Amino acid sequence: MSHVLHRSLLQSYPTAVKGDGVYIIDADNKRYLDACGGAAVSCLGHSDTSVIAAIKNQVDSIAYAHSSFFTTEPMEQLADFLAERAPGSLNSVYFVSGGSEAVESALKLARQFFVEKGEPQRKHIIARRQSYHGNTLGALATGGNLWRRQQFEPLLINIHHLSPCYAYREQLSDETDTDFVQRLGNELEEKIAELGGENIMAFIAEPVVGATLGAVPAVAGYFKRMRDICSRHGILLIADEVMCGMGRTGALFASAQEGIEPDLICIAKGLGGGYQPIGATLVSEDIIATLRNGSGFFQHGHTYIGHATACAAALAVQQRIESDHLLDNVTLMGEKLQQALIQALGDHPHVGDIRGRGLFRGIELVKDRESKAPFDTSLKLHAKIKATAMQQGLMCYPMGGTLNGKDGDHILLAPPYIITEAHIAEIIDKLSRSIDLVLNKV
Ligand code: PMP
Repeated sequence: MSHVLHRSLLQSYPTAVKGDGVYIIDADNKRYLDACGGAAVSCLGHSDTSVIAAIKNQVDSIAYAHSSFFTTEPMEQLADFLAERAPGSLNSVYFVSGGSEAVESALKLARQFFVEKGEPQRKHIIARRQSYHGNTLGALATGGNLWRRQQFEPLLINIHHLSPCYAYREQLSDETDTDFVQRLGNELEEKIAELGGENIMAFIAEPVVGATLGAVPAVAGYFKRMRDICSRHGILLIADEVMCGMGRTGALFASAQEGIEPDLICIAKGLGGGYQPIGATLVSEDIIATLRNGSGFFQHGHTYIGHATACAAALAVQQRIESDHLLDNVTLMGEKLQQALIQALGDHPHVGDIRGRGLFRGIELVKDRESKAPFDTSLKLHAKIKATAMQQGLMCYPMGGTLNGKDGDHILLAPPYIITEAHIAEIIDKLSRSIDLVLNKV
C-alpha cells in the first residue's frame, strides 16, 4: 500500500519513470501521449536537453539561496526576460512556487497598494463564476468553481462573482458579440454601483478560462471594456494567466492578445514547463512606485521565493521557446488541432462545443445538442473518459460538474508546443475512441 496521500485515495496510479518528448513512459514501459501537458504545464514535453542541462548547471553552482539574504543571477535574468516582454509597465516580477501563490501574491499586493496609497477602505474583490484561481483558501475563495469550493465555503472570504464571458452558454441567441460585451460590462458597472467604486480593490479574470471550462476565450472587446470600467473607478485589473499564459495561446501573454494592460499578471505552469515548480506575479510600475515611496517593503513571503534552480529552469524554458520560434508552432498546430477536432467530433451528437486558442482547446460534452442539456454529473463522464484515454495511452484533462449540474463535462487539451501533425493524428484517434467507448455505455 502506498503511504502517499494521492488525490484519489481509491485509485492506483501508474508510475511515471521517463520522459520522451511529448510522451511519458511508465514502469511497465507503456507510453502516454501527453495531450494536456498534465494541467497545461509541460510546454516543452518531458525530455528537453537544454532545460535539463540548465538545471544541472545551476545545481552545480548554487541550488538555492534564501531571498531575504541574496539575489541570484537566474532570478535577475528571468525577471529581466519577463519584464522586457510583458505588456506596458509591468516591470517587476515576484517569484513564487506555483499558480495559487501567484494569485495570493497579486491579491496581497493589491491590498497593500491601496493601504499605502491612503485608500484602506478598498477591500472588495470582484471575480467571475466558473473561474479557477487556485486551491489555497484566498485563491479558492476568489474562484467561482463550485465543485472545488463547496465544502470549504464556511472558511472562504467573501468575493463577488459575476457572469463569465462564456459565449456557448451565456450569450443569448439573438445577442451580438457587442451586445453581449455591453451586457457583461453593465453587470460590472451595477456591482460597482452597489459596492461603491471607492471600496473595490480588484477585478480578477482569466483571459482564457481553463481549469473550469476547458479553454474558453472571451468574446472580442470584452477585456477592453472591463479594463476601461476598472480604470474609470481606480480598480486594479488582475489577469490570471496561470494556465493560459506563457505561450499557451500563441503569445507569451494572453492579455496582450486582448489588447489590454493589466495592473498585475499571474503566471505559472508554462513558465517552468514542469521542469521545476515556479510561478510569478508581474506588477505594474504604479504599484511598485507606491510601495517604494511607502513602506519600501512587500509584506508577504514564502521560503522558496525566487528559487535559483527553478528560475534557471524557467529561463531555459523561455529561451528555448523564443530561440526556436515555438509560438509559431503553437499557432499553426493549434489551428490544425482545432480543425482535426471539428472534423472528427464536430457532428458528434454529444459534442456541444469545440473551442479555444492556440494549443489550448476545450470540448464540451452535452446530452442533447439542441437544448445544450448536460449529462447528469453523477455519471462522471469526464473522469471515465480520462481513465479510458489513459488505457489507450493518452493523457487528457477532464472537468465537469462545476456549476451544480448546469454545465457539461469538458475535456481540455493543452499539448506541448513541440507537437507535430502526427501527434495530432494520434490524439484525435485515441480521444475519439475513448469518448465513444464511454458514451456508448450511457
Ligand atoms: N489560476 C489558474 C487560472 C489555474 O488554472 C490554476 C491551476 N489550474 C491556478 C491558478 C493554481 O495554480 P497551482 O495549481 O499551481 O497552485
